[in-house]
Amino acid sequence: MPLSDNFGRSIHDLRISITDRCNYRCVYCRTGTNGAAYAELPFEDYLRMARILVGLGITKIRLTGGEPLLRKGIVEFVRDLAKLRTSEGKKPEIALTTNGHLLAEIAQPLKDGGLDRVTVSMDAVDPERFARITRVPNGYESVLAGVRASRQAGLDPVKINCVLLRGFNEDQIIPFGMFAREERVMVRFIEFMPLEEDRVWTPEIVVALDEIVSRMAEYLPLEEIAHERSETARRYRFSDGVGEIGIIAPVSHPFCGHCSRIRITSDGKLRTCLFSVWDHDVHELMRRGATDEKLTEFIVTVVEKKEERHHIGEPGFVPASRTMVHIGG
Ligand code: SAM
Repeated sequence: MPLSDNFGRSIHDLRISITDRCNYRCVYCRTGTNGAAYAELPFEDYLRMARILVGLGITKIRLTGGEPLLRKGIVEFVRDLAKLRTSEGKKPEIALTTNGHLLAEIAQPLKDGGLDRVTVSMDAVDPERFARITRVPNGYESVLAGVRASRQAGLDPVKINCVLLRGFNEDQIIPFGMFAREERVMVRFIEFMPLEEDRVWTPEIVVALDEIVSRMAEYLPLEEIAHERSETARRYRFSDGVGEIGIIAPVSHPFCGHCSRIRITSDGKLRTCLFSVWDHDVHELMRRGATDEKLTEFIVTVVEKKEERHHIGEPGFVPASRTMVHIGG
């Protein structure tokens, strides 16, 4: 019985946030205060949820946070996830989203444990600017080492996610294009969404897809190439055939109609949309001794009611009940 919702979308991507703590305080994401706001669960609890969800048709699991590499035991957790089998008898695809600060040391063990792919978040390729955005000194070198160690370990492809904000880092578009080609990584630009702790979002601050493509053309023209329907990023190849970038455009080109994702928060709540105004307490049911069958029933019912789409930029937009760092990006 594969998971699907009332709009006929089949749900096969799961994101699990394993902590909402973060060692970076990116200015567009967090207020700068420290400390976890929500609980963390033992890995065995996330594993049980993942096992049930893989039994319901999940084929891809992405670990995220907060900063997932702050959790000790992540390698063992990946190893356990890699033992799960989909209904077709395959290992689920396992991916990680990280700021990369602690990645260099752990990339190879993660790969050996069964991690398939990694996405590293970077919002500048200039060390000083990088420090101003993350509010952590000397991070750039560590992250670059993490990116290179990931490639070395065979985590393929290594993707870099860059959130663009007007007047802040849109001058990094071309440097990131060069970086993608030099480092042989796939850079994906993300439109800024209203999910930050400080309410700074305005439509004007968003650097949208068309603008990114035309800015990059001042360096080298881009040609759009095919992407999977459920893939969030539109893909572009540089006209000389060397390197590729992606653009994730939830604001200017929403892709909710093809959304295949659900999320588990660090405290074990199921969320059916980034912009959900409520979440569903799977962990509380587990704590009260629910059987796998009961949990399955609960999950299936919740997922059926997945939101049709987000309402970013529309009059009456209601902000999500949690910000990005506490959901799991
Ligand atoms: N710490 C990890 C990292 O840095 O990738 C995982 C969590 S972080 C919240 C995941 C991604 O969400 C990052 O790429 C971050 O830039 C992005 N992000 C945070 N706030 C965002 C927003 N308001 N709009 C779009 N992307 C956002």
